[in-house]
Amino acid sequence: MDGTGTPSLRRPPAIARLLGALAAQDMVAAHGRPLVVQALRAAVADFRAGAGAGPTEAALLGAAAQWLARHTRGPRPVLNLTGTVLHTNLGRAPLPPAALAAMAAAAGAADLEIDLSTGRRGERDSHLEALLCSLTGAEAALAVNNNAAAVLLLLRALAPRREVVVSRGELVEIGGAFRIPDIMREAGCRLREVGTTNRTHARDYAEAIGPRTALLMKVHRSNYRIEGFAAEVAEEELAAIAHRHALPMAVDLGSGSLHDLARWGLPREPTVGAAIAAGADLVTFSGDKLLGGPQAGLVVGRAALVDRLRRHPLKRALRLDKTTIAALVAVLRLQADPDRLPQRLPALRLLLRPQTEIAALAERLRPAVAAALQDLAEVSVIACDSQIGSGARPADLLPSAALALRPRRGRTADALAAALRRLPVPALGRVARGSVVLDLRCLEDPAAFEAQLPLLPGLIAG
Ligand SMILES: *Cc1c(COP(=O)(O)O)cnc(C)c1O
Repeated sequence: MDGTGTPSLRRPPAIARLLGALAAQDMVAAHGRPLVVQALRAAVADFRAGAGAGPTEAALLGAAAQWLARHTRGPRPVLNLTGTVLHTNLGRAPLPPAALAAMAAAAGAADLEIDLSTGRRGERDSHLEALLCSLTGAEAALAVNNNAAAVLLLLRALAPRREVVVSRGELVEIGGAFRIPDIMREAGCRLREVGTTNRTHARDYAEAIGPRTALLMKVHRSNYRIEGFAAEVAEEELAAIAHRHALPMAVDLGSGSLHDLARWGLPREPTVGAAIAAGADLVTFSGDKLLGGPQAGLVVGRAALVDRLRRHPLKRALRLDKTTIAALVAVLRLQADPDRLPQRLPALRLLLRPQTEIAALAERLRPAVAAALQDLAEVSVIACDSQIGSGARPADLLPSAALALRPRRGRTADALAAALRRLPVPALGRVARGSVVLDLRCLEDPAAFEAQLPLLPGLIAG
């Protein structure tokens, strides 16, 4: 018997019959009939393929509910306890409340491309341009979908079928398959590599310049460094070489901080303003790395060049939507007041969180975590290192503190990490030397973490 009064079936019930069950009616109320039918069909197909639960009504309805949970959910909140503040897989920068409010305010009809003083058509980048210019010293600015898009647009607009000179020491690959040689090919440019992996000199660039050269380009080594017998050409000198040949010089800065992080005691990162001051004609950088905003790619520089990018048809395909522009403006306004930035920009606040505060939080949480895990894991407080993430200065570590959960009774750290990921608000740590390490740098709402601790033992067993 399967609880519905009928003998256990070898064949699953018809979809129409499953739809009549009370649990299916609840699913229809939440998701609509077509999706529930699809979920039930998937459940039945899985059962027939020997890969899913069944054939009872209850088992198939449960499988359908799981299918719906898996396939109808957008990105949901997680606790980033990885120790990487700008974690690409976790959506990089956490947005400030001011950005959320601005996105909501712009969600309906908005003056995105209307000049309200004249009633004529406006330009969507105009919302950002004055702030970006003021923060970087550039003449003009535009924004696209991400920094990879900004580099692609720059190359397509300024160097089609021509040569772009880049040092061999700067042919970077950024996580997620952004590679300078590939993007050059996609953009229809010829990459002219100069120098060697460890040393590139001014004369290497100068000797590579010919009638087909469109651009000299410098790419920030975001995620690695070259040490030892090394040499590179500074932006100022590269700009001077380019300008002697009436060529533009562009910099892909990657993280692109607007302020010198050293003012807050963080590792120094080149600023956009410094690149402009050094003579770069165009600089590209991300919106969701050290800027601390939404995913976007910013281009700042000379008005005539920014204008060529703006008029290129690819700009239309890469443009930002109104809510992202609203969030960016909100973040740029915060950036315009650096004295209060650490309090107001979550990404910077987390990067600056003192180790003593994180360690105190770990000590305070330890007993509750130990009590929840009982004899399943031994819980201790350890010192650890966080990193900025998104390729920004990976070798520079930020002293932090963590809860280390060492599993007992034959359980593995991987199983414990999996249980933490099954929490209602999944907690993501890292596994190191047989323990799950939960770096608490980014835990700003410990109550939310504590509240779900009682669920953990059930998730480990299950
Ligand atoms: C991160 C980075 C990119 C890619 O930026 P996205 O905003 O992720 O598209 C390109 N170049 C450099 C040097 C980077 O650091």
